[in-house]
Amino acid sequence: MSEVFDSSVSFESLGLRSSVLRGLKEAAYEQPTHIQVKLIPEIMAGHDVMGQAKTGTGKTAAFGLPIFHAADSDTPMQALILVPTRELAAQVSSELDNLGRFTPIRTSCIIGGESMRNQVQSVKHGGHIIVGTPGRIMDMYGRRLIRFQQIRWVVLDEVDRMLDIGFRDDIRKILSTIRHDHQTIFVSATIGPEVERLARQFTKSDTARVTSSKGALTVTLVQQKYFTVEPWDKPQLLLHVLRHEDPDTTLVFCRTKATVHRVTQYLRNHQINASEIHGDLHQHKRTRVMDSMRGGNLHVLIASDLAARGLDIDHISHVINYDLPDDPELYVHRVGRTARLGRMGIAWSFVTSADGQLLTEIEKLTGVLIEKLDYSKFKPGPVPQDVLNQRAAEVHHVADPTESIKSRAIPPPTASLSAAEMAAMFPNGVIPKNLPRRTLGAPLRTRYK
Ligand code: AMP
Repeated sequence: MSEVFDSSVSFESLGLRSSVLRGLKEAAYEQPTHIQVKLIPEIMAGHDVMGQAKTGTGKTAAFGLPIFHAADSDTPMQALILVPTRELAAQVSSELDNLGRFTPIRTSCIIGGESMRNQVQSVKHGGHIIVGTPGRIMDMYGRRLIRFQQIRWVVLDEVDRMLDIGFRDDIRKILSTIRHDHQTIFVSATIGPEVERLARQFTKSDTARVTSSKGALTVTLVQQKYFTVEPWDKPQLLLHVLRHEDPDTTLVFCRTKATVHRVTQYLRNHQINASEIHGDLHQHKRTRVMDSMRGGNLHVLIASDLAARGLDIDHISHVINYDLPDDPELYVHRVGRTARLGRMGIAWSFVTSADGQLLTEIEKLTGVLIEKLDYSKFKPGPVPQDVLNQRAAEVHHVADPTESIKSRAIPPPTASLSAAEMAAMFPNGVIPKNLPRRTLGAPLRTRYK
């Protein structure tokens, strides 16, 4: 547990006001997590912060509690929290609703796919804290439905993901629009050059840098293993693992929407209680899937990376990487969905022969040697005909243009074959003793009649 919680500090000793402490007590938060102990005092002291924390470390409360502590109940739109996905926005705002319920500070969630009118009403009736995705926030700002004049805190949660998704321009626009003095808080699982650049441009020179221990980023609480598998065996291996290991709630990651859909159908056809979640799914359908997952009515959720960014389901026991992600940092994100808050989780990856380099990069980033799991009970299927055809075509294709005429010349037939082998090659014929004579440009004439 000490991986996550800091037992040397209490919420009381952080100096939070009593209405905030009451919310924590009701939510059964007994001890602060490491990132909370580091981040809360910096924000309360009025500093800009660059915080490195992965999901599941308690980062939402880390930036939310000091805002509840210092926000003023008479001023709407004091805090703006930008997150990459609708799901994460909904999750952050519901956690803030929960934590701040004994304070007079209210939260509004501004996301696409839901009625703008309701969201405007929610901002009007409270809306001290606005949580939303950059696109929708910019849209509503453009329509003058929200304003930034009173903003005191801007939080960018999962900055790395927001940049990946393509919110770069919206983020820059929002941050450049808020010119008056305010605090800026960046929270990111990984801090690459682009996040650094953004922070340098939009945070003050005395920005506090808060990093969660290496242990948190390397997801040490997750048992990580991999299976080697041929690409065509992946569906059967997944089915086999789900049936034989009987994992609890499992999140399966695929690289593309098409694969997400195909794998879901395959599992359903084999009586596995599975649903899919990806970017093309309508909001109401996503909400339904998330609800049934949270309610424990769904065993397997197949997801694309984009859709999975904001997934907050506490009881995921297994993450299966059906496809390894292109980007090793995404692996950290995926695996962070299990082992939430100190609970042990399991992450298995399907690795094909083409994935070797990627696996090494993931090991380097996480600092964990991922063990191979031999699954002796699984019987791989035959190589499909189209793969065999493709391989044959590749051999032909490679041999043809690169070889010189000389190297293509037929070797002396007796050079490497035994007499018996030669006889077998020409069952009813005369065994050739010499190469046919090459006639310049003209078809070869045979002498073997
Ligand atoms: P987060 O990293 O903010 O997504 O938090 C992950 C989960 O941990 C959420 O479900 C929070 O409600 C919960 N959580 C955060 N901080 C604490 C804490 N100090 N004690 C217990 N649960 C917490």
